[in-house]
Amino acid sequence: MTETPSPPVRSLEELVGRTPTMEVRLAGVPDGVRLLAKLEMFNPLLNVKDRAVLYMLREAERTGLLPARGGTVIECSSGSTGISLAALCAVRGHRCVIVLPDNATAERHQILRELGAEIVLVPHEEGLLPAWKYAEELHRETPGSWLPHQDRNPANVQAHYETTGPELWETCAGRIDVFVCGVGTGGTLTGVARYLKERGNVHVVAVEPERSAVLSGGEAGPHGIPGIGAGYVSDLTDLSVIDEVVAVPDEAAAATRREISRSTGLLAGVSAGAAAHACRVLSRRERWAGSTIVTVFPDTGERYLSLASD
Ligand code: PMP
Repeated sequence: MTETPSPPVRSLEELVGRTPTMEVRLAGVPDGVRLLAKLEMFNPLLNVKDRAVLYMLREAERTGLLPARGGTVIECSSGSTGISLAALCAVRGHRCVIVLPDNATAERHQILRELGAEIVLVPHEEGLLPAWKYAEELHRETPGSWLPHQDRNPANVQAHYETTGPELWETCAGRIDVFVCGVGTGGTLTGVARYLKERGNVHVVAVEPERSAVLSGGEAGPHGIPGIGAGYVSDLTDLSVIDEVVAVPDEAAAATRREISRSTGLLAGVSAGAAAHACRVLSRRERWAGSTIVTVFPDTGERYLSLASD
């Protein structure tokens, strides 16, 4: 428990970021290797996207793409971004329309609706591309609306360059040998890695699903690690900051997620399991004996409970 309670905050936005970092012990990680995870489920909407969404909204208001209040935000998202947008649009007084593939779970619908977002369902069979087309069409037809386009919006990267990266560097007192990060839009990895590489000699490892290993030169495909492995390399992903890519089997991500729950009490999401698995693989290499390996756990496992198979 902290000794001095924090003063009251005036808005949910003040609770975004400054998340804790926890040492995680995993079986098979050699003694002497320190494994640290930044716990992004401590953001108000329980995921890392709060940071990017807040930055994108502020930038759109600053540059006049959105009015200070009363604008319309339209985005295509089957995941955390939609939820963070719905909440932060509520805070900032904007209408929020989320284009959602029709296979999204019931709890996603409920959360979005609860937060006041309007939901437009599109068929999921053909992937996210038709959903994006639809969102773009809706944006064209809605005067004054704004489409954040998280996978090509530089404010997504900026959020992590200005907050997640510096927070990690400070928490670890500059002792980071390896940074391991899952890639969805690539915003987290690119922003954090750029910051860390400006500060020190940090080996950066991208994590992707083995079944959709496009960064490793493989084919896109369906996989079981929500939040990463979009099936293409986004414009935001800066390949020059990636030193190595680790492709993780779905089963290893799920098993490691479960192991984290039972050994630390922390309910992390599946992509956190994938990141932790990659950390363990790296920790066994001679090169990283005695090193500090740092990663990000992007969200909570509670959002995936209805997908669990056991
Ligand atoms: N894991 C989860 C659960 C996510 O929701 C996201 C964001 N889509 C990521 C990982 C990857 O983050 P980014 O989009 O910054 O690459």
